[in-house]
Amino acid sequence: MLSRLIRALCGMLVLAALLAPSATAQTPASGKRLQVVATFSILGDLVKAVGGDKVDVTTLIGPGVDAHTYDPSPADLVKLESADLVFENGLGFEPWLDRFYASAQPLGKRVIVTEGITPRQAGGAEVSHEGESAGHGQFDPHVWHDVANAIVMVENIRDALVAADPANAAVYEANAAAKIADLKALDQWVREQVATIPEERRKLVTSHDTFGYFADAYGFQIIGTALGSLSTEAGEPSARTIATLISQIQDAGVPAIFAENVSNPDLMQSIADEAGVTLAPPLYSDALGPPGSPGDTYDGMIRGNVTTIVNALKG
Ligand SMILES: [Zn+2]
Repeated sequence: MLSRLIRALCGMLVLAALLAPSATAQTPASGKRLQVVATFSILGDLVKAVGGDKVDVTTLIGPGVDAHTYDPSPADLVKLESADLVFENGLGFEPWLDRFYASAQPLGKRVIVTEGITPRQAGGAEVSHEGESAGHGQFDPHVWHDVANAIVMVENIRDALVAADPANAAVYEANAAAKIADLKALDQWVREQVATIPEERRKLVTSHDTFGYFADAYGFQIIGTALGSLSTEAGEPSARTIATLISQIQDAGVPAIFAENVSNPDLMQSIADEAGVTLAPPLYSDALGPPGSPGDTYDGMIRGNVTTIVNALKG
């Protein structure tokens, strides 16, 4: 499906290039705002914070949508083709983007925002039951749940925007500095909130293995996940896997487990019922919440998650 779309698109682009040989996506013409694409909503919010009113940001994978199972539409491929810069998470989170660049060779520069972050190894917290599924690398891509990593992402976004649009360097630098100050305060707030949870209760059970960086940064233990995988692409877990998880939940003595905004909560509800614990409201895992919800920005997502976790585990 994807390769057919790409072939069709390539044909269209060749035609467009013949008709308008001066068209270029490489640098913005003077007075024209930089056209950038961010692959998913959490990243898009950070790019908007740094770009401010100097860039037009298009986010491909919107709020509440699961990036692991995303397949770009023809309209998305057109947006990718015309971008000056494409911001991606990297660490195996966007395998479709590798395929697109290999086939279509668009002019926009790819910017991997996790450059400089030390990645967690896959299976660090939980051994995958069936091995990693195709298209997934050896690293955990979910870096954003550690606010210190979001600061590195902002620095990488700033550097890429300055390089692509040096005329507005001072704006990008000022926006990034303000955002980094906010993120430092947010990180401090998370630590103060987590300190209100008794240490023996700082334990998480979620749908898929997305809170490893959060756990490492803020002193939580991942007891287990329903899917036993860094990706949501894993199929429904077996009855034996669920039985094991239920006994792990009971052994851990946690009062609650968590659903995620990108996953169907039914499986987690039945696990909670079987284990005799509460199913807490969903955490924002791999996507922001819809506009107007508490999790519609990066900061709101982190604050919402920490508030939900504190309320569920504090006792
Ligand atoms: Zn994920």
